[in-house]
Amino acid sequence: MKIFCVGRNYIDHARELNNAVPEEPVIFMKPPTALLRNGKPFFIPAFSNDIHYETELIVKISKNGKHIESEFVKNYYDELTVGIDFTARDVQNKLKEKSLPWELAKGFDFSAGVGTWIEFTKEMKKSSISFRLDINRKTVQQGNSSDMIFSIDSLIMYISKFFKLQAGDLIYTGTPAGVGSLKTGDVLEAFVGDESLFYCEIR
Ligand code: MG
Repeated sequence: MKIFCVGRNYIDHARELNNAVPEEPVIFMKPPTALLRNGKPFFIPAFSNDIHYETELIVKISKNGKHIESEFVKNYYDELTVGIDFTARDVQNKLKEKSLPWELAKGFDFSAGVGTWIEFTKEMKKSSISFRLDINRKTVQQGNSSDMIFSIDSLIMYISKFFKLQAGDLIYTGTPAGVGSLKTGDVLEAFVGDESLFYCEIR
């Protein structure tokens, strides 16, 4: 199982971190050991003093494919949830300064929070999907799939040019503006629409 992530897929988030708006999708990966299931606590790792939340829609690939074309792409995913791309921002900033890869900041153990899966219906694929994160019962991030620079379909087509997609692979589709630091004791709850799909306590 592979975990793909998309960086800078919302203009307002690219700008808040002073990054250029990309002309092609920014893709990176996390290992399967990064998964953090819904309801499990997140322990702030010793190597970072600045763990950020990034709330993202997550799509699950439903069948194997390579060089997937636009007329078929909607057949390649059928489940959706929301989760957190936990990011060691201080580590990432150091790596970015030196133009080094991001794995240490993005792919560490339990850095990929994943919510409960729901069916990604045909109707949902044609409409826009809203999502949000509440921390300590206050909304800190709100997003909508219609604001993505690269749509879910175009991300899947793009990734499948480089990697064979396999059933069970996940795609974290990027975060909207409003990312920020986490501290011990914070309680995270993420929603698709008004449905609560991800819960996590920070320890
Ligand atoms: Mg992210």
